Amino acid sequence: MNKRIAIDMDDVLADTTAKILQVSNQILGTSYTRADLATPAKAAEFYQQYYPIRDFLHEKGFFRDLPVFDNAIDVVKRLQAEYEVFIVSAATEFPNSLTEKLEWLEEHFPFIGWSHTVFCGHKYMIKADYLIDDHEKNLVKFEGKGLLFDAPHNYHVQGYQRVFSWKEIEGLLLEKKEEA
Ligand SMILES: [Mg+2]
Repeated sequence: MNKRIAIDMDDVLADTTAKILQVSNQILGTSYTRADLATPAKAAEFYQQYYPIRDFLHEKGFFRDLPVFDNAIDVVKRLQAEYEVFIVSAATEFPNSLTEKLEWLEEHFPFIGWSHTVFCGHKYMIKADYLIDDHEKNLVKFEGKGLLFDAPHNYHVQGYQRVFSWKEIEGLLLEKKEEA
């Protein structure tokens, strides 16, 4: 039986941070960039202004047009040939996002399908061999191998294998496997 991979959506398949920056800058009249968020002082300054306005995450449409990370589509498609791939998103916190996330997946990852899409709250009951996620809270209780997808909000997190791109995931989970 193929090994199972659970893949998060926000800030793993989708560049949610890019949209958060775009909407926040629009509301605040600022021009924060992703690079700013890698600087602790700048990041603290941004998040202090972002927290009071982040209700926009609950507004209709927010999750529908998120950009897809480079190479995510091709690599997930290739992973699917070797592994059992599930998309696992803690989406129930954002009720509007449920339909939008399904539509987004259908647009960009139509080969996944509803049967391999899991929308949940907590992720600690997810059982898989790998979990690719940007949040420590999702990896900490995971019993398989956790891969921390690099994001500005997790630069301080240690103790997990950090991956920076889908090309890197391809190297880890596909090319090494082919050599073995
Ligand atoms: Mg995420």
